[in-house]
Order: sequence, then structure tokens, then C-alpha cells
Amino acid sequence: MAKKADEIINVLKAKGLRVTPQRYAVYANLLSRNDHPTAENILTDLNKDAPTLSQATIYLSLQTLRDVGLIREVLLQEGVCRYDANVSPHHHFRCNCCGKIEDIPWETFSNLSVDKLRSGLKVDHYEVIVQGECNSCCET
Ligand SMILES: [Zn+2]
Ligand SMILES: [Zn+2]
Repeated sequence: MAKKADEIINVLKAKGLRVTPQRYAVYANLLSRNDHPTAENILTDLNKDAPTLSQATIYLSLQTLRDVGLIREVLLQEGVCRYDANVSPHHHFRCNCCGKIEDIPWETFSNLSVDKLRSGLKVDHYEVIVQGECNSCCET
């Protein structure tokens, strides 16, 4: 998932976005991780060395990136919005103990089908959410 700086800039430009330091920082941060962070997680991470970005800026950048389809919101927990730079179809696993969310490749449930839905329902997108315990939680 790691992309070089000029690649990231090109992706933003290709979406017709002005490349601001904030957008760049937020998108680069999301691309560099796969833990589905919240806006607060990103804020903390980006302001680790010096507090340069405000919460409002982060939210605004996330919104913009989401609007053009570069990132998506992951809502697996009531009231908690997490973000994902992996916008290709995939499923999620959520650990009930530590709250960790990890990607499950789409092919994992290869025979999943929405054909049996009643007629009249138009499918936009769907994914499987598996809940349980991750291996680091099970061990202890
Ligand atoms: Zn866990
Ligand atoms: Zn994901």
C-alpha cells in the first residue's frame, strides 16, 4: 500500500483535487497504515512531532478525500467512524476485545452471493463483518 510522495500527489491531482499539505498528510498517513484509524488517531499521529494540524482540518480533508472516493468510512461500531484507504472491495474482521479491525480479502468469501435477495432490492455494495477475537487477544 505504501506509495511514494509523487505518486500520492498524482493520485490527488487525478481526482481534481488541489494538493494541500493537509490533504497530502492525511492521505499519506492513511495509505501507510491498515489499522482503520479514527480521525483522532490520524490527528495524534500527524501531530506527534509538532502540532500543526487542527481537528477541523483533519475532518475536512477526510471528507474531501472520501467525496472523491480515495478513502472510505468504515462503520463497524456504533458512533465510531474509522477510515480506510483501501477502497477496493474487501471484508472486515473486528476483534471484540481490543477493537482491532483488519481487512479480509474479498476472495475469502468467494461464493457469497446477493442473488437470493428479494426482487426490488437494488444492491449498491455489501461486505461481510466478522466479529470475534484476534490471535493476540485469544492467547492471553
Ligand atoms: Zn484483539
Ligand atoms: Zn478495510
